[in-house]
Amino acid sequence: MTGLYFHIPFCARKCPYCDFYSVPFHKETVSRYVGAILRNITAHPITDKIDTVYFGGGTPSLLSPAQIGEILDACTGAYTLAEDTEITLEFNPTGRRDDYLKALRSAGVNRLSIGTQSFSDAQLRLLGRTHSAQDGLHAVEAAQTAGFVNISCDLMLATPEQSEEVLAQTLDVLAALPITHVSAYMLQIEEGTPLSQDTALLSRCPDDDATADRYLQAVHALAAAGFRQYEVSSFAKPGFKSRHNLKYWRCEPYLGIGAGAHSCCGESPLTGASQCAANGAKVGGEPPLAGAAQCAAGITRFCVPKDVQAFLDADRQPEELLDAHPLEREERLMLALRLTDGVPASALSDAARKQIPALLHAGYLRLNGAGIALTPKGFAVSNAVIAALIV
Ligand code: SF4
Repeated sequence: MTGLYFHIPFCARKCPYCDFYSVPFHKETVSRYVGAILRNITAHPITDKIDTVYFGGGTPSLLSPAQIGEILDACTGAYTLAEDTEITLEFNPTGRRDDYLKALRSAGVNRLSIGTQSFSDAQLRLLGRTHSAQDGLHAVEAAQTAGFVNISCDLMLATPEQSEEVLAQTLDVLAALPITHVSAYMLQIEEGTPLSQDTALLSRCPDDDATADRYLQAVHALAAAGFRQYEVSSFAKPGFKSRHNLKYWRCEPYLGIGAGAHSCCGESPLTGASQCAANGAKVGGEPPLAGAAQCAAGITRFCVPKDVQAFLDADRQPEELLDAHPLEREERLMLALRLTDGVPASALSDAARKQIPALLHAGYLRLNGAGIALTPKGFAVSNAVIAALIV
C-alpha cells in the first residue's frame, strides 16, 4: 500500500535551530496553496490503496480544520483509502486550541504528532520555541478530550544545558501522559541557522559522551514507561508504531505533494506516468531487504523544488529526479539497520560479517534470530556502526 505526504511549508516564526524549508504564514497564500494541493491530488492518480496520510511541515496546524477536511475529502474522492487509514498531522502546541483539535478530529485526522520537544520552560526558551511546557500539557489533554487515541510527542535531546536531571523531569512528564508514541531526536547543528552562529549557546550543548548518555537515559526511561523502541528515534506503546514513517525505513512507496516534498514510488517525473500501484503491490508488506530486486525496478526518488511560488503557479507540481535507481542494497541496508528488527546476516557483505564479532563484543549489536540488530548503545553511535556494516 502507498502513503501520501502533504508538505505544508509555513511557520508563524522560524526556530533558530531549524533548517527545514518554510516561509512565513500568509493567510491568502495558504488558501492558494491548499487549492494547489487539490489540483495535484487530481494530477497524481494512484490505483494502489492508500493506508497512510501525513501532514508534515513547516507547521500543518496553521491550516484550518476546514482546509484539512477539504484535502482529505479530495483524497477520498480520488484514491481508495483503506478503512483504517492512519491520518497524522504535526501539531504545534503554542496556545490553547481545544476547539481546533475537536474540529480536526471531526475532519478525519486520527493521529497527532505534537511538537512538544521538552517540558522544561527553560529548555524551550533556549530552543527559541514559542510554546511553554504548560502549552504542551494542554495540547495532549485537549487532544485526548477531542477523541484522539493515537498521540505522539516530540522529544529533543542533546540541547543546551540538558543535564541528566533536566531530561529526567521531561521524561517523567512523558511517562505520565496519555500518549502512545514518542519521537526522540538529537538536536542537529545545521550550517547557516542562527543557532550555528551562537557560539555561547553551542558551548552549553552536551559533548558526544554526554549526548550518548542522554540518549540512553531516554531509551531506558521510555522503556520503563511502556514505550518499545522500534527505530533509532521512535518509541511506541504496543500497536502504535507510526505506520507512515515505517514506510520510509521499509522502502515502501509514498507520494509527496507540496513545495519541498519528497517521493519514492514508481512515478517518474520524466514520464509523468503514474506507476505507484504496480510497484506498491510488489513492495508492500515485504520484510526489509527481501524484495530488493523488485523494489529497485521502476521505483524512483524525486522531490518538488523548495519554491512555494512555483508550486502555486503550476497545474501539476514541478518534480525533479533525485535518484533513478534508489533503494539499492546499500540504501535498503542503511534504512533497515535503523529498525530494531535489524537485518538478516545474509544481507551483509563478507567484509561486514567479519565486523560482527567485535561489534557484538562491544555491545553495539545483538543477535536477532538469523540476523543482527543494533542495541541502544549501538543506536547512540548509529552513524559509525551502520557505516561499518554497509561496506
Ligand atoms: S522547527 Fe518546526 S515550527 Fe520551528 S521553524 Fe522548523 S518547521 Fe517551523
